[in-house]
Order: sequence, then C-alpha cells, then structure tokens
Amino acid sequence: MHANVQARFGGGVTCYPATEVRSLPNSYVAIAAAYLAGCRRVFLLTPPHLVRKWRREVLDTVPDAGVAIVRTISDLERSRTLSGPMQVVICSREQAKLGYRWRPAAVARPLLGADGRLARDDAGAVLRQWCCPDCCTPIVDGEEIPLSWDDLHAKRRRCQTCDTPLWQADPSGPRRVPLADYVSRRMRGHFDLLIGDEIHEFKARGSAQGMAAGTLAEACGRTLSLTGTLMGGRARRH
Ligand SMILES: [Zn+2]
Repeated sequence: MHANVQARFGGGVTCYPATEVRSLPNSYVAIAAAYLAGCRRVFLLTPPHLVRKWRREVLDTVPDAGVAIVRTISDLERSRTLSGPMQVVICSREQAKLGYRWRPAAVARPLLGADGRLARDDAGAVLRQWCCPDCCTPIVDGEEIPLSWDDLHAKRRRCQTCDTPLWQADPSGPRRVPLADYVSRRMRGHFDLLIGDEIHEFKARGSAQGMAAGTLAEACGRTLSLTGTLMGGRARRH
C-alpha cells in the first residue's frame, strides 16, 4: 500500500515563509514535507545528473541530515550508520536498475544419520548438507531432498523456515550492483519513504528503470512521486 505524503506549510510552521513556497524548487518542498510528515529514512531516486543537486538541497532543507550518495551495495550497507535528524540515501535511476552478480549464501553442516551419529561416505569423510546461514535449517526442495551448491546457484531462494535470503551479492562481480533488489531483499522496512520524479509513471512503463522504481516503492512502503506541480500548485517545478 502506498500513501502519498502531504504536509501543509502554514505561517511559522517551517523555515519557509508562505510567500516563498511558491518559488521553492520541488526538492525543497518534498524534503520538508517528508520531514514534517515524520519520515526519517528516505530513499531518493533521481535522474543521474541531479544526484549532487539533490544532496545540496537536502542539506539546505535539513542541515544536520545524514546524506549518502550510493552507487554500490557497500555504500548502501554503510548508509545504515548515517545519523542526524533525517537520513537520506540518494541513488540515480540508472544505478538502481543495474543487474549484478550473486552467489549462494549457505553453511555446510555435518549430516547426522538415523542413529544420531555423524553420517559418513564410503571413504569415511563426514557428509555435510547446506543449511540456512541464519537459522541452520537444512535446505531442501519440495520433496525434502537436500539441495546441492549447484541447485543454490541455479536460482535465488529464501529459507523456508526464517525467510533469510540464501544468496548474497558477489563482491568479485562487476562494480555495478543491483541496488533496487538489494533494498527490497536486505533493507525492507529500513526506509520509510521513497521520493522520486514521476515514479508513478516509471512504475507503469515496465522498463528496467520502472521495475527498479516499483521494487523500491514496495520496499519503502510510502512513495512521494514528484510531478510538475506539488502542493496544489503552490510550488512549481523549476
Ligand atoms: Zn533460516
């Protein structure tokens, strides 16, 4: 469910006198509205050439905000430690949609035989099975057959017991990474708002960028989609 965030600018409520709201860029109004609405962790999806501009404008609007421009999964992970009254992660639409490499995430644990002792193969080596890295549940298919490493490689799966992803980004892969998917799978609920230009239009397009926007919107819960006009026409896009 996506709710649009709305905030009203009354006299004295914000640092912007009502007479100036008319001339403020969309970005200032969006950030101020998000802040006033109680959003504290915001994911900003911007056109590539506006990433730095948005950063400046976030800091102009909420001076002590923690702001990070993210290009990689490592950047995203580091953004968890941002502080300040509002934490804003800025990502270009191009970067959010890019594909990436991943590899299975599982731990090999010794297999116990029916007698409760370690199961061994003919050569006496202890047999192991792949288990969830989080809850240690053995990873099996629908017929309770243990999955091999190759099986885990073939498809991204989640633990049937605790829903932990049984895959992780492969750091030896290309620098370009799957930021939208990563937010969806590993940072769901972390952000409380997605802000972006024309997100509602992008989602409808079904392109890679549109799918990334849709994935992010779902993971963040609430979406503030900027359009040509905002705030009932009182603030216009520059
Ligand atoms: Zn698990």
